[in-house]
Amino acid sequence: MTDEFTTEIYYDDDADVSTLDDETVAVLGYGSQGHAHALNLHESGVDVIVGLREGSASRDAAEADGLTVATPDEAAKQAGYISVLVPDTVQASVYENAIEPNLEAGDTLQFAHGLNIHYGQIEPPEGVDVSMVAPKSPGHLVRRNYENDEGTPGLLAVYQDTTGDAEERALAYAKAIGCTRAGVIETTFQEEVESDLFGEQAVLCGGVTSLVKHGYETLVDAGYSPEIAYFECLNELKLIVDLMYEGGHAEMWDSVSDTAEYGGLSRGDRIVDEHVRENMEETLEEIQNGEFTREWILENQAGRPSYTQLRQAEKNHEIEEVGARLRDLFAWAEEEDTEDEEDDS
Ligand code: NAD
Ligand code: MG
Ligand code: MG
Ligand code: MG
Ligand code: MG
Repeated sequence: MTDEFTTEIYYDDDADVSTLDDETVAVLGYGSQGHAHALNLHESGVDVIVGLREGSASRDAAEADGLTVATPDEAAKQAGYISVLVPDTVQASVYENAIEPNLEAGDTLQFAHGLNIHYGQIEPPEGVDVSMVAPKSPGHLVRRNYENDEGTPGLLAVYQDTTGDAEERALAYAKAIGCTRAGVIETTFQEEVESDLFGEQAVLCGGVTSLVKHGYETLVDAGYSPEIAYFECLNELKLIVDLMYEGGHAEMWDSVSDTAEYGGLSRGDRIVDEHVRENMEETLEEIQNGEFTREWILENQAGRPSYTQLRQAEKNHEIEEVGARLRDLFAWAEEEDTEDEEDDS
């Protein structure tokens, strides 16, 4: 191992917000990422116009926040820099209806996730720059960090550079939303999309919830109480992850008892074994060959039947009911809720 990173990392000194001085930036969508980008850009002195459909619930919010709002079509027309922050599943239709007709040579089309470009759902014309600035955090944190003079790490990628300025312009945007304060890593659309899908499917969202459910069911089926199983397999996970986040696996192993450390080290690979590794490789392959994305696009076109069913099954799992009851009974959850609300405001 060397201590050299394999990719470029950019900080505030590498970027200049005034690059966007003569530019109007259209932020399409005012959800998690959209509201954070629009407000941070605005407060960094960038000319912003938010693009939302007539009658969209987000319209009032954006106007109340003091931003100029127009339809996506009108915003794309006025702007030379278009940041696409509507949900990934509607981007192709928003592109076709509101963006493409308004693209001119030299415009920038920017994303916060590369799915639609990488899998060919959006094919921008030659002559426009196509880039990505993807904060590695939910939008409310991008906003909160900016307000606290802190940064949010992010990824930057250039897919198409016709002006020769694509990178410089994307860096200016990344600085204006606060990402270069923390550090921005250079990547490609392919790497960002495939690693993001893999991470959320195999480890972060899919892998973890499945591990928790199997652990919970194993204890409950063996006669242990659901409340104890909930604490051991779900609630304590947060404490463990906090330690890993702070200091890697080493800090976690240092903090738990020697018994926990020996038990975990000697049994972990039995639980998540070579077979799980093979399943991960298969999952990665479906991402790389486009099978997953094809399935997801068809699922949306069909009105999300499987998605609805999977969601319902997850909601009906006993651990959800036990958890809701316990979180109501114990004071710790309530205190954290209040804290979160205060932080969010
Ligand atoms: P979101 O669901 O929170 O917000 C979507 C916004 O788009 C809402 O304001 C909604 O009113 C608007 N919208 C929905 N349909 C529309 C339509 N047909 N036309 C116009 N506007 C429409 O979305 P998000 O989670 O902020 O995701 C936006 C992008 O950011 C996606 O590409 C996503 O992958 C990426 N991203 C999200 C996160 C995250 O943590 N949420 C992190 C990094 C990147
Ligand atoms: Mg335009
Ligand atoms: Mg993702
Ligand atoms: Mg214990
Ligand atoms: Mg120890």
